[in-house]
Amino acid sequence: MQQKNSHGVKISNLSFSWPGGAFALEIDQLQLQPGERAFIYGPSGSGKTTFLNLVSGVLAPQRGTIEIGGQDICQLSGARRDRFRAAHMGVIFQQLNLIPFLSVHDNIRLPLVFSRDKTPGSDIDIRIEQLVKQLQLDLSLLYRRADQLSVGQQQRVALARSLVNRPALLIADEPTSALDQDSRDAFINLMNQTAAESNSTVLFVSHDRSLQSHFQQSFDIAELAGQGVAS
Ligand code: ADP
Ligand code: MG
Repeated sequence: MQQKNSHGVKISNLSFSWPGGAFALEIDQLQLQPGERAFIYGPSGSGKTTFLNLVSGVLAPQRGTIEIGGQDICQLSGARRDRFRAAHMGVIFQQLNLIPFLSVHDNIRLPLVFSRDKTPGSDIDIRIEQLVKQLQLDLSLLYRRADQLSVGQQQRVALARSLVNRPALLIADEPTSALDQDSRDAFINLMNQTAAESNSTVLFVSHDRSLQSHFQQSFDIAELAGQGVAS
């Protein structure tokens, strides 16, 4: 599988509000260098997930630009944003979103299916085995159904899935909130090491500010957003 270049992120004059105007997010400027690991914190309801959905192109802003590796994703149609995400980004969610009835192997492979990756099956299998070993999962788990794993194992499968594509940008939405402090630190260390091997830029959000020491830059979403929650 080809090594991909890392992508920087440059956000300018971003404005998004949910219909009805109960919540608005305004971000004047935010820049991440290629390969940088950045942390954004804020309490529940402060707009972290909304923000990540804008960066991944699941949501489109009313105004502004979101450049990822120089491509302004706001200029792309919904279908092209989906393809751009599949080709360049890995996403890991708080709820993990594994497909319970698929095997661990098939869950990890899913992003390659969506991005219509042409890597031969045998190379994909090598990449998956390498990731699984790196994330300290037993190879014997590969052909188990995802719902037969412990939560800690499922978390590492979700991490493997987000990194299988060697994404230029890894987006993480509070993937550690169900873990105790030690497991949290171990998980983030594994994530950062594995992401660094693909030279992936990392954007991680959490309500837990104590995690910021793992990252090179950190931001308070309220300061980034200026206005935060409208009345
Ligand atoms: P966080 O991830 O920081 O907890 P969210 O981005 O989920 O915050 O939510 C920020 C605000 O946006 C909240 O006030 C929430 O009610 C609102 N919001 C989130 N999703 C939707 C939606 N689909 N429709 C309308 N409002 C939403
Ligand atoms: Mg959230």
